[in-house]
Amino acid sequence: MKRNLLLTPGPTQVPPSVCEALGRPIIHHRTPQFQNEIKEAVEGLKYIFQTKNDVYLLTCSGTGAMEAAVCNLLSPGDKAIAVEAGKFGERWTELCKVYKADARVVTIEWGKTVTAADIQKILKAEADIKAVFITLCETSTGATPDVQAIAQVVKESNAVLVLDAISGLGVTDVQTDNWGVDVVVSGSQKGLMLPPGLAMISVSPKALALIEKSTNPRYYFDLREAKKAAEKVDTPFTPAIGIIIALNEAIRLIKKEGLQNLFVRYALMAKATRAAAQALGLKVFTDPSCQSNVLTAISLPANIDGEKLMKVMRDEHGITVAGGQDKLKGKTIRIAHMGMIDEFDIVAGIACLEKVLKKMGHTFELGAGVAAAQKVLNS
Ligand SMILES: *Cc1c(COP(=O)(O)O)cnc(C)c1O
Repeated sequence: MKRNLLLTPGPTQVPPSVCEALGRPIIHHRTPQFQNEIKEAVEGLKYIFQTKNDVYLLTCSGTGAMEAAVCNLLSPGDKAIAVEAGKFGERWTELCKVYKADARVVTIEWGKTVTAADIQKILKAEADIKAVFITLCETSTGATPDVQAIAQVVKESNAVLVLDAISGLGVTDVQTDNWGVDVVVSGSQKGLMLPPGLAMISVSPKALALIEKSTNPRYYFDLREAKKAAEKVDTPFTPAIGIIIALNEAIRLIKKEGLQNLFVRYALMAKATRAAAQALGLKVFTDPSCQSNVLTAISLPANIDGEKLMKVMRDEHGITVAGGQDKLKGKTIRIAHMGMIDEFDIVAGIACLEKVLKKMGHTFELGAGVAAAQKVLNS
């Protein structure tokens, strides 16, 4: 009988009307009826990606789209830059290794982020770098780079910029065309408020040229095939029919509120969550210079076990936040503010955090976090 409030950075909550769309009987995908769904989905995604580039739908989780980017853009031996500022950035490095690309790995301390100057230095030294792989919101740390500034320096080079926007698309501003981001990858279960199983990738003409030239073996994730199919309003294989239909409902919700309004709402909730953490005597893990509005990573005092905190919140109170990953396991919790989450969900999450922190022996004035959040939310 307990509610299940997801304040997690994926999967996120699925709105009732999207659930309703998911519950419809399945239709066949090689039909004019489904072609209309594809057309609508791609147009809607172009609005959210803020692009006129091609957007392809892939049937996989977000990582599949990351793999598609690496194996289609590069050939074995090609030079690339992979930025590792946390768990998800590491995935770019691993993918480059698997496909035998020659990656210059930029390792950043967790909680901090890469700068345009860092990237520019490498690009200037090596003119034959083909691609730069970065992460919009490093979900393990809550850090976000200045994508616009990075895009500016990549634009002046021979390389393409590839952005993992899996957590962050539809939550924080990504101006794909205005900034010049060649490839943007995302997935269904974060800002788009859908179940996992659908990924999407946008590709610029500069990226398409590399895709045509790649000598990597590709089959399921061959973007040349995705492009050919897209031209006929089709997909190469059986698509995630149900999720695409539900995506159109999610897009309606996003359009109804408006992207810019969404960004403002998430930013306010992020600010409120950070203020609450501080009021509880906790530190935001992420460096103040690069805190993302997608989620808040909070450092815990040594006497508080983050894994236990997270489990009690979830199992006893029905509020799920994420624990720390890898070296941050037990040391941080992460509260997401993306998708169908409103100010009172944040307040509930903070109230629950307070309750469990109190029980675990952390000293603070009960209500301080909620009050701090409320002040921001009502400012
Ligand atoms: C969630 C996430 C991924 C992984 O996506 P999957 O859908 O689990 O494959 C990759 N990158 C970032 C930044 C994420 O937040």
